[in-house]
Amino acid sequence: MKDQNCIFCKIANGEIPAATLYEDEDFRVILDLGPASKGHALILPKEHAANLYELPDALAGKAMILAKKIASKLSVALKCDGFNIVQNNGEAAGQTVFHFHIHLIPRYKGDTVNVTWQPGILTEEDKKEILEIFR
Ligand code: AMP
Ligand code: ZN
Repeated sequence: MKDQNCIFCKIANGEIPAATLYEDEDFRVILDLGPASKGHALILPKEHAANLYELPDALAGKAMILAKKIASKLSVALKCDGFNIVQNNGEAAGQTVFHFHIHLIPRYKGDTVNVTWQPGILTEEDKKEILEIFR
């Protein structure tokens, strides 16, 4: 299913051109237009899903396998020192395009990419509350 107003639906399905690294029946992998680092790529499913929660299980599984494949290939070719796989869900998490996508971000020693956070403290109260959700 495609969303007529969704730019990533249009890119994934070839209606808007993009620098394509890989394509199969389910996905297109493109270079990000505003890269965090050299080689920053995006995995886009051809089917519209706003976020991870809407993505069908079969595509979610295939997407991670594809992330492994593309990141491995880029890592060797670009000789990067590391890789971040980032996937944002919701505005509060930094999502700006509401069509599920996975960021593949090559990392180079000394680069200025920032995908880290200040560690907090796991309180007993939070731990109890969250463990209860999974009982
Ligand atoms: P997010 O903030 O996780 O929603 O990521 C959206 C990403 O899409 C950003 O890194 C943008 O630079 C990238 N982006 C937006 N429009 C395009 C486009 N037309 N082609 C390639 N990348 C895009
Ligand atoms: Zn879409």
